[in-house]
Amino acid sequence: MRIAEVHIFQHDLPVRNGPYTMANAQVWALDTTLVRMVSDTGLEGWGETCPVGPTYAEAHAKGARAALMEMAPGLIGAEVVPLTLHRAMNRLLNGHNYAKAAVDIAAFDLIGKATGLRVADLLGGVATESVPSYYATGVGEPDEIAQIAAEKVAEGYPRLQIKVGGRPVEVDIAVIRKVWETVGGKARLAVDGNRGWATRDALRVSRECPDIPFIMEQPCNTIDELRQIRAQVSHAIYMDESAVDLGAAISAAGTGLVDGFGMKLTRIGGLQRMAAFRDICEARSLPHTCDDSWGGDIIAAACTHIGATVNPRLLEGVWLAAPYIEGNYDPENGIGIEGGHIALPQGPGLGVVPDAAQFGPPVASFGG
Ligand SMILES: [Mg+2]
Repeated sequence: MRIAEVHIFQHDLPVRNGPYTMANAQVWALDTTLVRMVSDTGLEGWGETCPVGPTYAEAHAKGARAALMEMAPGLIGAEVVPLTLHRAMNRLLNGHNYAKAAVDIAAFDLIGKATGLRVADLLGGVATESVPSYYATGVGEPDEIAQIAAEKVAEGYPRLQIKVGGRPVEVDIAVIRKVWETVGGKARLAVDGNRGWATRDALRVSRECPDIPFIMEQPCNTIDELRQIRAQVSHAIYMDESAVDLGAAISAAGTGLVDGFGMKLTRIGGLQRMAAFRDICEARSLPHTCDDSWGGDIIAAACTHIGATVNPRLLEGVWLAAPYIEGNYDPENGIGIEGGHIALPQGPGLGVVPDAAQFGPPVASFGG
């Protein structure tokens, strides 16, 4: 089965009750990029990539489309085999994992449809049909965040992530305390600085909250800063934004720099790379998430499929943008969260079929 056509679409996803606030970014609407890959058998697969605005990561929406347009002509006629496609993409463009992820996801969707298998089965096998999610609050005031935390725990979320940073650290400490007073012991807790704390702030939070068992996710900006605080804090440290590719994740896992990861499917380059990351983490008993970096049903389905294959004792959850955005691409089988968990889609491939009329005409088409 070979690639016959590649079509690239742009689509806007408005943020419900926006903006969504992180230490370094405010998001009002998401600019997502979809790829429809048609094979020489007539089957089609879908991929997606959606950076959270231009400042969260070294990625932006127009860059994703430019990278895909750069690679697409060279992919026409290529075999739909994920590892081979990654090598072909690397010969066409250096870096830009987040754009390559859309092609990778579309390839898995196509292979699943051609074989009648679900993507999770292609990735090694399903460990659970009900994949745990976690809820991420934005940066907010103590009472507001504690109320959201109480609601989400009542809904059934087994884990909460509190966003902090970008303001005096005293307020962050007050939020952590209030949330723990409200839901302590009822859900696992992550505190995500999104690179926003100085090492001074991370040290102070850990010293002042020794009784609260949260994990600290990407508290500081760089790998050097994480190394600097590592031996001085009593809380577990997870790496998110600094794990920019498989190589960075291997170094962090192998040197014991971190106790786990928040991982984004598109940042690491798609499902093929994510499966390798999953196996490396299992070899070192490192827990991790399988997150989308925003996006709609295609990305949400891809994250749910890889999440379903992770050893359940190491899965910290699959974060989806679904609760923060309106509507679904697939009106029947759209991905959603119920009781803090996501049902693994049943159909072949990703198990979601987007209503392409929502996206309008493609911004670029190749082959055909
Ligand atoms: Mg994070």
